[in-house]
Amino acid sequence: MSTMGWIGLGNMGRPMTANLVKAGHTVNGYDVVPDAVAAAAEHGVNPVGSLAEAVAGADIVFTMLPKGEHARAVYLGDDGVLAHADTRSLLVDSSTIDFDSARTLHTEAAAAGFRFVDGPVSGGVTGAEAGTLTFMLGGSDEDVAEAKPFIEPMAGNIFHAGGEAAGQAAKIVNNMMLAISLQGVVEGAVLAQRFGLDPTTFWNIAKVSSGDSWPLRTWYPVPGVTETAASNNGFAPGFAAALMHKDVGLALAGGESQGVDLPAASLVHGQLQKLIDDGFAGLDTSALIRNIDPKAEGLPG
Ligand code: NAD
Repeated sequence: MSTMGWIGLGNMGRPMTANLVKAGHTVNGYDVVPDAVAAAAEHGVNPVGSLAEAVAGADIVFTMLPKGEHARAVYLGDDGVLAHADTRSLLVDSSTIDFDSARTLHTEAAAAGFRFVDGPVSGGVTGAEAGTLTFMLGGSDEDVAEAKPFIEPMAGNIFHAGGEAAGQAAKIVNNMMLAISLQGVVEGAVLAQRFGLDPTTFWNIAKVSSGDSWPLRTWYPVPGVTETAASNNGFAPGFAAALMHKDVGLALAGGESQGVDLPAASLVHGQLQKLIDDGFAGLDTSALIRNIDPKAEGLPG
């Protein structure tokens, strides 16, 4: 079994490391928040008090941090991973970060003699707990092949998306498309009801017609229509609006740096911002229906 360094033991890092421990690995875990380290230690992570201790002797180092700025600081800072790790350690960043930061991490890691893979995930905290996350990996064939067996205890699916930053690219574009099609679904759900259509009847029609989509089938924002929807549960997440706002923001940043106009992504980013400004950042993303109908069934308050 292997020795792993893990930096970032938050909502995702904690259950992900628990599955690595269950698989028999030694995981040296560090977080700037001591309580996060203590919580991970309850699941068998070896708690350490510094980044340098986390990466010491590691076959592989994972990071699971909030944003690009945190990942850049943790890898590139004077007291960071590139400064303290041995070049023998394979580096994997599983945070969801902007494409340009991911490219920078690949470039700087290679310049310092390291092998680096970007490996964002989808599947949320429930997928992290169940060990069924989808990993989207970006990097060379050799590095991705080396990373895969370490990732397996945390994953349901592992994709090699392509070269440098391809994992982040796939994750960002997927979530942007999800947010855009969800916006269509919340608008459609309200208009269908105002036209007098029964929600389930309309849903059954759209599901087998050209209006079908993953959020229609899975996240329909009217209670009692589809079992998997947060609307059945007071719009508790699921996938919180704040996280989707971040991910669509990453798409907009990517559009800007790649010179691509993204009008629908801009619109849904604004709709998510409104939900956050109104105090609903913690609700499921399908609470976007609130902007269209503040009295929509199932909304809290
Ligand atoms: P989180 O905020 O709960 O955890 C991040 C952890 O990183 C925190 O405990 C924080 O203290 C720690 N951290 C920040 N700076 C640090 C530093 N310099 N050194 C050490 N630790 C540091 O976030 P999360 O929900 O675990 O998400 C992590 C990443 O995964 C994000 O990029 C998020 O977008 C992505 N993601 C989250 C979900 C989800 O449902 N939560 C799903 C898919 C992807």
